[in-house]
Amino acid sequence: QQQIKLVNRPVGTPVKEDFEFTQAPIGEPAEGEVLIRTNYISVDPYLRGRMNDVKSYVPPFELNTVISSGVVGQVVESKLPNYEKGDIVTGMLGWQQYSVAKESEIRKIDTKLAPASAYLSVLGMTGLTAYFGLLDIGQPKEGETVVVSGAAGAVGSMVGQIAKIKGTRVVGIAGSAEKTDYLINELGFDAAINYKTEDVPAALGKACPNGIDVYYENVGGEIGDAVLPLLNKFARIPVCGAISAYNNKEADVGLRVQSYLIKSSALMKGFTVGDYSERFKEGLEALAGWLQEGKIQYEETITEGFENTIDAFLDLFKGANLGKAIVKVSEI
Ligand code: NDP
Repeated sequence: QQQIKLVNRPVGTPVKEDFEFTQAPIGEPAEGEVLIRTNYISVDPYLRGRMNDVKSYVPPFELNTVISSGVVGQVVESKLPNYEKGDIVTGMLGWQQYSVAKESEIRKIDTKLAPASAYLSVLGMTGLTAYFGLLDIGQPKEGETVVVSGAAGAVGSMVGQIAKIKGTRVVGIAGSAEKTDYLINELGFDAAINYKTEDVPAALGKACPNGIDVYYENVGGEIGDAVLPLLNKFARIPVCGAISAYNNKEADVGLRVQSYLIKSSALMKGFTVGDYSERFKEGLEALAGWLQEGKIQYEETITEGFENTIDAFLDLFKGANLGKAIVKVSEI
């Protein structure tokens, strides 16, 4: 089978040479383990952070080891009593065609409720990130204005739709006309700004006549800076990510936030989805409920073929994906 290893720590924007395809035998499950054939791999911007040798909330990838992320796969051999051949599971597994996993590393998924890949998007880590960051930290209230950056991506597209469910005015910021059209026409956002062609501070001023009560931060940089002057009193800022800075070689220096936070008595709070692990069940039930009621929809950009996994990852930094970026490795 083929595997993908990290062989260099990327300097700036990752390049293909930072990764290597290697051949390895398919593992043999021992007692208490299953062998899983990989069907889908999640490629995520946060993995870029794990490629640096710095201490963070998740340890860095070690060089010359297989990269791992969210995976959906099918059990092909089971030495676990409550798993059988054919079961579809998800877990944090390797970028490889087959994985051996223990019970604690996987859980079964219900493909009657949603297609398997949805467990890497709306019913997976990114759906939960949107749910908890927005509702727990953002605390959106009816009639308020919510702005979300990275709005047409996996997390952002869910944030905007959940904010609509909560009765707010939703403004999305994204990087193409196709994406802003999608936000307004498909997802029901009230306004959307193309940061690549529009003057973001001016467009935000126009789209948010009553100021901004919640800013769900996914990108940082100049887009984040443009929001601060428009914060209303007691605004909330869930700081989820800062993709615009992930490939910076030098420290990112932007607007100093302090005076804006003081002026607006705003709350800015960083978080990782793992902070809410005790409440994942609640989040998944809510997301699944909205999905079934047709209150949220989701898009996936599926790249076909294991051999294209690295391209799919690199494409995240070019904005090639609408909704969740996923690699399809094999048919279920
Ligand atoms: P997305 O599906 O949003 O994919 C990344 C998107 O980011 C691209 O499609 C692109 O869209 C946008 N982007 C890329 N480069 C830039 C740039 N320089 N400036 C502005 N936008 C850019 O990924 P996710 O939904 O998985 O992640 C969104 C954010 O949430 C990331 O910052 C990620 O690290 C963070 N995150 C945090 C978690 C947590 O626990 N705190 C968990 C999961 C994700 P466009 O065309 O609009 O530029």
